[in-house]
Amino acid sequence: MSYSEERDQLVTAVQEMDRLGLVSGTSGNASVRLDTTGIPDAFLVTPAALPYPGMTPDQLVPVNDDLEPIEGGGTPSSESLLHLAIYRARKDVGAVMHTHSVFATALGVAGRPLPPIVDELTVYVGGQVEVAEYGFPGSEELAQAGVDALGDRRAVLIPHHGMFAVADTVAEALRVCALVERVAQVFVHAEAIGGAKEIPAESFEAERLMYLARTEPSD
Ligand SMILES: [Zn+2]
Repeated sequence: MSYSEERDQLVTAVQEMDRLGLVSGTSGNASVRLDTTGIPDAFLVTPAALPYPGMTPDQLVPVNDDLEPIEGGGTPSSESLLHLAIYRARKDVGAVMHTHSVFATALGVAGRPLPPIVDELTVYVGGQVEVAEYGFPGSEELAQAGVDALGDRRAVLIPHHGMFAVADTVAEALRVCALVERVAQVFVHAEAIGGAKEIPAESFEAERLMYLARTEPSD
């Protein structure tokens, strides 16, 4: 994918994230790994505090692994440290998206992980979505806590804040955000009508193998 296509896809994804109501105002952010710069773990990230509807590809900020802009003068998202920590820890990850969606945030506020209650959560996200340890927004502590709780899965809940999703592409990261939000909503409703039940252990094991097979690096 060319650099300009990556910019276009990132803007399209965050505008869809906004349209779906997964964030409010200028909150949330997303990034894609830049493989063409020759700089390890460089990525292209949405700018700080700019509304999504009018965002243009030239407003995205390419940064190096010190979070300094590689070109242009934009200000990267204030939550870029967690994006960087994920790219460092997970070489399989090509894109990261962070949202403040209501039900995923509610689980983090309650300190409740999202258990494997529907089949597709394990197949596409890798199993239970854990709640990270608390860290101040934008801090090193939060970045490390987020990576630790993410593990080898594709989503993590950030307490008192929101969630992060990772995938090969930013379009796929958006789908993970939307899926986790939907399953979180189902979980809260199921808890209200008698209690959510996890999928059977044998099915979970089989679905974990399916997840690992589809996330294995192809090279
Ligand atoms: Zn946030």
